[in-house]
Amino acid sequence: MVLDVSSLKITLGIVALTLSFLFYRSYLRTNSPYSGWWCLALGLLMAGNIAYLLTGTSQQVWANPLGNALLVAGAFSVWAGSRSLRMRPTPWWLLLAGPVITAVASALENPAANAWSGGLVYLAMMAAGMGLATRELALLRPTDYQTHRELAVAAGILAGYYLVRACVYVLEGPEGPAFTTYFSSAFTSMITIVMLVTVSFSMTALSNEQLINRLNERASRDGLTGMLNRTTFMEQASQEVRRLHAAGSLSTVILADLDNFKAINDAHGHAVGDAAIRAFADACLASIRHTDLAGRYGGEEFIILLPGAGHESGRVIAETINRNLTAAEAPKGVRFPTVSYGIATTLTGDLTAMIGDADRALYEAKNLGRNRIVTSLPGARKR
Ligand code: GH3
Ligand code: MG
Ligand code: MG
Repeated sequence: MVLDVSSLKITLGIVALTLSFLFYRSYLRTNSPYSGWWCLALGLLMAGNIAYLLTGTSQQVWANPLGNALLVAGAFSVWAGSRSLRMRPTPWWLLLAGPVITAVASALENPAANAWSGGLVYLAMMAAGMGLATRELALLRPTDYQTHRELAVAAGILAGYYLVRACVYVLEGPEGPAFTTYFSSAFTSMITIVMLVTVSFSMTALSNEQLINRLNERASRDGLTGMLNRTTFMEQASQEVRRLHAAGSLSTVILADLDNFKAINDAHGHAVGDAAIRAFADACLASIRHTDLAGRYGGEEFIILLPGAGHESGRVIAETINRNLTAAEAPKGVRFPTVSYGIATTLTGDLTAMIGDADRALYEAKNLGRNRIVTSLPGARKR
């Protein structure tokens, strides 16, 4: 069977064009960087294949180096997209380096007469771009995305294919029997079409996952402070407390309420009140471990769960929060409010009862004159 190179390249171009159109729409909808990069990669792939159609004509002299450079730029866009999934930006000069080197190498090897000018650099760059993308996809945590494995496998196969192709190119050149049978442009176009469809399918799932993750994240956070909202805090904290109880470990909860907060709003306005709430939230987040949970419980009330910690740790954390809040910069002429804390510890695994205890301790702190930490201990309450 002889595969007709031009027809395959045109088919590949049409598939890439259709997919880039579909992904551009998805990019507009989701605004996900990965969709954007994939869309760009498809566009570059299509443009590169159009340039290759000029092979064998008088335009080959510029079309071949350009085609090679565009395809390498496409592979590096896939890499940049994979990095964006891990929230890692890619410097533009690093993205341009591959295509520029490829174009220069092709231009130096008599591109007017040699249809494979710069072939080795092109193949090596394609393998490098796809290899780097495979690495990024493999490094993604399975908790963030479920679809990334298929993508990593597809990118890995393509990287491996280009690597073997480069080796065969070195061993026997572009006219050798193995190269023309298994690694010819026609065969590569066919493989690329299959890969495009596979990757695009996984990509759609991944974009949706990214969107759902972002929505979940937004729905679980308080807009003003970025802390967990009350519902999410309660869900996560009750699970955690139950788990710790089953493991025979205790946990401690801190309830915090800003003192005379209404007076700040009345004296300086709501914007300053909001700034005080944010400053307290920042002080909280700076004082806890990443395994602790912190949430906005109500207007100017906050809640922190310290898994595995006792009431003494709770007191230390509350004191640290106070120090951080005192060190925070307040708007001119304003003093951030003092804070009252109620702390309770449980071994029973009942979060609601523990919060009830902490709430009573907080009331006691208010009644005793505010700006203090009160600990509620089962059977023996102490200040
Ligand atoms: P106490 O020391 O007894 O806690 O007195 P307080 O003034 O802090 O308590 P009170 O419950 O009387 O008032 C709480 C105020 O917090 C009333 C409400 O307008 C304000 N508040 C609640 N949420 C927000 C918010 O998101 N931004 C601002 N600026 N104010 C808020
Ligand atoms: Mg309050
Ligand atoms: Mg208050």
